[in-house]
Amino acid sequence: MKAAVVRDFSAPLLVEDVEIPAPGPGQALVKVLFSGVCHTDLHAAHGDWPVKPVPPFVPGHEGVGEVVAVGDGVTRLRIGDMAGNAWFWSACGSCEYCGTGRETLCPDQKNGGYSVDGSFGRYMLVDAAYAPVIPEGVDLAAVAPILCAGVTVYKGLKESDVRPGQWVLISGIGGLGHIAVQYARAMGMRVVAVDVSDEKCELARRHGAELAVNALSDPDPAATIKEFTGGGAHGGLVTAVNGAAFSQGVGALRRGGTLALVGLPPEQFPLDIFSTVLFGLTVRGSIVGTRADLAEALDFFARGLIEPTYTLRPLADINAIFDEMAAGRIEGRVVMDMSA
Ligand code: NAD
Ligand code: ZN
Ligand code: ZN
Repeated sequence: MKAAVVRDFSAPLLVEDVEIPAPGPGQALVKVLFSGVCHTDLHAAHGDWPVKPVPPFVPGHEGVGEVVAVGDGVTRLRIGDMAGNAWFWSACGSCEYCGTGRETLCPDQKNGGYSVDGSFGRYMLVDAAYAPVIPEGVDLAAVAPILCAGVTVYKGLKESDVRPGQWVLISGIGGLGHIAVQYARAMGMRVVAVDVSDEKCELARRHGAELAVNALSDPDPAATIKEFTGGGAHGGLVTAVNGAAFSQGVGALRRGGTLALVGLPPEQFPLDIFSTVLFGLTVRGSIVGTRADLAEALDFFARGLIEPTYTLRPLADINAIFDEMAAGRIEGRVVMDMSA
């Protein structure tokens, strides 16, 4: 089968012939029809983070396709079902985190397209107990971005503790952020958005942001947001791949506000101790979502509340797609049509 393989963190991916994997006990083999491209795949291919994947590996954790074979003991998936992979690929099921509804913190989890080969190939393996089942009748290309971008921002919005009618800041209107605007609206929140291009700001407005600030042309985005919202956002989500956006996000919070950190730029940001203490701010990390979060996120999509903006591209374009992503030139998400 054809797959895009990372062989070296400093070289382009190679689209090459790879053996079709065989499903082991508890696993299923999925023929991939569509796969979203997440900025995490780019971080993975570059070895950006402290814990690195081991080349050679196949990235991709927004894959959707048809189950074509199942291993021993599989009952949850059957041949012909539509299923997907996710970053949260599997976990141990028995540690203190798995046992308390916090399975995405499991130290023994496996990650799709990182520690386990992902969806940038014509076939992929999934763990039948963890793989998302795609709701019947949905558009199989449009649903792909829900498997990472969708569930991640849905969970992040919960973690922001923003209530219906309150202001939420969405910083970074890329693949994750433009979907975050839509979940926030569906959850009854009022949205202010920040990005560094006028096109992304326009995308945010199109999806329902009441204010979208270009952080490059506005001399003080946090002040603009505080004024517009009458005191600051009640909470927020930073999906930007840039450290400066994180400081700005904290600066745009209302007293008592919570910022969920979602973006993973390989840099740090300074957290001001004085204002964090005096204004009672909370800053917390938010990592993808549990199986239950993903099922809920898919349900929002199936009910027509979320419409990812995406472009279909072939797998052969993967290196060009990564270049465009690094330059911030992608509108919404790229979804690869794996049969193209
Ligand atoms: P993307 O490239 O599609 O979007 C990033 C956006 O950030 C772009 O629109 C870009 O213009 C914007 N941006 C850049 N600098 C900015 C700044 N200073 N202020 C505001 N916006 C700025 O990427 P994506 O696929 O949406 O992923 C975003 C990040 O989230 C990546 O680092 C990815 O690894 C991470 N991620 C985290 C999780 C999680 O569970 N926490 C899940 C998926 C992705
Ligand atoms: Zn992702
Ligand atoms: Zn566990």
